[in-house]
Amino acid sequence: MPAIADDLVQPFEIEPFHLRGRLVRLGPLLDEIVTRHDYPSAVAVMLGEAIALAVALSATLKYDGVFTLQTKGDGAIRLLVVDVTSAGAVRGYAQFDADRLAAVMAGSASASGSVPKLLGAGYLAFTVDQGEDTERYQGIVALEGGTLAECIHHYFRQSEQIAAGIKVAVHRNAAGVWRGGCLLVQRLPLEEGPGDARDALEDGWRRALILMGSSTSQELTDRDLSPAALLYRLFHEDGVRVFRTHGVRAECRCSRERIERVLRSFPTDERQDLGQDDGSVTVTCEFCNQSYRFEAPDLAAIAAG
Ligand SMILES: [Zn+2]
Repeated sequence: MPAIADDLVQPFEIEPFHLRGRLVRLGPLLDEIVTRHDYPSAVAVMLGEAIALAVALSATLKYDGVFTLQTKGDGAIRLLVVDVTSAGAVRGYAQFDADRLAAVMAGSASASGSVPKLLGAGYLAFTVDQGEDTERYQGIVALEGGTLAECIHHYFRQSEQIAAGIKVAVHRNAAGVWRGGCLLVQRLPLEEGPGDARDALEDGWRRALILMGSSTSQELTDRDLSPAALLYRLFHEDGVRVFRTHGVRAECRCSRERIERVLRSFPTDERQDLGQDDGSVTVTCEFCNQSYRFEAPDLAAIAAG
């Protein structure tokens, strides 16, 4: 099987230590989402991290529907939204205040900033929507942490009692292309056992965190280093096993039909208020920036139902 080194999730296990993980590698997917909006670097990095984390987290869940990761805060970046379908379609966008962003980033040597600096106080939430009449799973945690990965770390500690280590890297390479990566290692619940065995598992977990910490941003995002090769480089002494990868891609779920349905749900006077002088209405999808234009006759047809 030829190695695909981009836009994929590589599941793995370090069986002797009861650890499992996901390595996410993002190339064209990330670049497409970020450049379509032409976000300033600080916003692009933050959204890129949210995308890498959302893909990694969604890959640890069994679901049939849409996984959404969202942050809301009182900082310059008000909102980050990423969703990942169980079929591997990923989309995301950010809402930010350009003036406030320029003010907080002024004098900063780095293109990226911390959660407190850019997102402010607020929360990070994820939901799994599996359609009508199904349970909507939701996790929520305060934006407490320097990075989004740290916020998610808090979440795991608080709500799931699952020990997890997470490392994320997002950057624009020398060719001006955005790339990203995420390494997530989780500890499977410990079974009761003799003390020696438990100590060995504890040591294995600490070792894995140290090795994970030793991976560089370059390694996490390097297109020429396959995820399996990176995992082997990091964990080969501990008996890492890799499983089948699955692909992810940038894909929005908006369509003219969906927008029509939304317009139809508006009362007639509100629909008219949306209109331009010529009576047309243009709706732009926040996720993918695609514009849908409806001329006056189209709107009359929608109004007629
Ligand atoms: Zn769209």
